[in-house]
Amino acid sequence: MGKTTGFLEYARQEAASRPPEERVRDWEPFHLPLKPEQRRDQGGRCMNCGVPYCQAGMEWEGRTFGCPLHNLIPEWNDMIWAENPFHALSRLLKTNNFPEFTGRVCPAPCEGACICGLYGDAVTIRDNELSVIEDAFAAGAVKRRRPPQWSGKKVCVVGSGPAGLAAADQLNHRGHFVTVVEREERCGGLLTYGIPNMKLPKDVVARRIDLMTREGVSFATGVDAADPAVAQRLLGDYDAVVLCCGAERPRPLAMEAEGLAGFCYGTEFLKAAVERQQFGKDPAIPAAEGRDVVIVGTGDTAADCVATALRQGCRSVTQLVRRPVEDYLKDGKLPLDYAQEEALEVFGRDPRRFGTQVRELVTEGDALTGVVTGEGETLPCTLLIAATGFAGCAPGVCRAFGVDCGETVQTAEGHFATSVEKVFAAGDMRRGQSLVVWAIAEGRTVAAEVDAYLTGYTNIVRTV
Ligand SMILES: Cc1cc2nc3c(=O)[nH]c(=O)nc-3n(C[C@H](O)[C@H](O)[C@H](O)COP(=O)(O)OP(=O)(O)OC[C@H]3O[C@@H](n4cnc5c(N)ncnc54)[C@H](O)[C@@H]3O)c2cc1C
Ligand code: SF4
Repeated sequence: MGKTTGFLEYARQEAASRPPEERVRDWEPFHLPLKPEQRRDQGGRCMNCGVPYCQAGMEWEGRTFGCPLHNLIPEWNDMIWAENPFHALSRLLKTNNFPEFTGRVCPAPCEGACICGLYGDAVTIRDNELSVIEDAFAAGAVKRRRPPQWSGKKVCVVGSGPAGLAAADQLNHRGHFVTVVEREERCGGLLTYGIPNMKLPKDVVARRIDLMTREGVSFATGVDAADPAVAQRLLGDYDAVVLCCGAERPRPLAMEAEGLAGFCYGTEFLKAAVERQQFGKDPAIPAAEGRDVVIVGTGDTAADCVATALRQGCRSVTQLVRRPVEDYLKDGKLPLDYAQEEALEVFGRDPRRFGTQVRELVTEGDALTGVVTGEGETLPCTLLIAATGFAGCAPGVCRAFGVDCGETVQTAEGHFATSVEKVFAAGDMRRGQSLVVWAIAEGRTVAAEVDAYLTGYTNIVRTV
């Protein structure tokens, strides 16, 4: 422990955000890093309490407490205080393949479990994590690592989201030849096509893919493994196959809206926005520009849709939330996330309406013009976005590989092998819609199982 009284002397200081009125005009990241001396103080706030629940990563009644990756948090906080960035980096990379992703988008269950937070404010663990990895990239300290020898075994990872990338990274460093096949034109899964650029810049994802390529992982994009012929070829060509295709099937709206001009699901809207804004494409899903937008649902996807609609220049935005406002109050106040702050700035009101749903759609021909709420009020609506959650993984890949599948791929409790010899599954596809940190944890653990399957033993530590 570097600074014995740090938690008493220094107040918690989070990375500042650019003001909503400024950031809503562009797609750039909205967090600003602290100065190095301020970051050092934040590392010094960790009291190395001896009961680091922050790194325990437990699930309790569906909620996560502590870091699912068991990040060695007190160790790298100590190294931040001691100004030893290289040691901090080596301890961080021991448990987390991609701290540049989690340091930006993780909801930080570690901070909820921080002992310092019991009587005061938790340590800024996520911001500290991001500073360790970004300072290391800036200093050229994140070096290409290649395994000392290759095993001669070939593994195919299907899907390049955080679970697939983590599995590929671990198996590559164990010396197996790894190929990642991906249906889309670009790799990254929801890191690329879901989470908007202002939360997770696309060049950060591309930087990691580039590093992994230089370390030996092969990436093949535009390959749809739901095609039975492709699946058979992969099964024939590889010693093991790891399915990490996410849980992309949206939960349908409780009314007939599909096919209507002006209706789409949240993930479709966000993917189209990324393709349009970042990659210069012209997708079929409309932009929100000039439209009255109604978003059904809450959570990360709904918030990202609000923020994206604002940046595209919508005429109005309303978010319909099914549960009553009381369910969202904290200490009697209604917290605002980044998107709601921005809507407040642009339209002068919180976009959320609580305890309500869409009861009916108003159309002219096959075009949407409005929605009627549960209370009978008609809201103008020319773009309705359903962000109502996920119903599991797309069944096509499971059918093509013949693996047992319900809403998600079925594996034995705590294991990753599917019902088909040499086929494994991980990430949202196995676990159901979750978080980036859990996807990485699943990817690391499936790699341990695959390694043991291929070689008879493994020295990869299981995370889950
Ligand atoms: C809008 C949105 C915002 C989110 N925000 C956050 C956040 O802020 N913080 C957080 O922690 N989590 C967030 N999440 C959740 C997080 O993104 C996911 O839990 C995580 O990405 C799951 O990783 P994965 O690798 O299992 O799947 P995915 O990231 O979904 O990747 C699956 C990959 O498989 C590919 N694939 C699918 N089918 C095939 C096929 N037939 N052939 C080849 N490839 C295929 C897909 O194209 C994709 O690249 C968010 C989710 C959404 C939808
Ligand atoms: S990955 Fe998430 S839970 Fe783990 S230390 Fe980082 S912010 Fe905390």
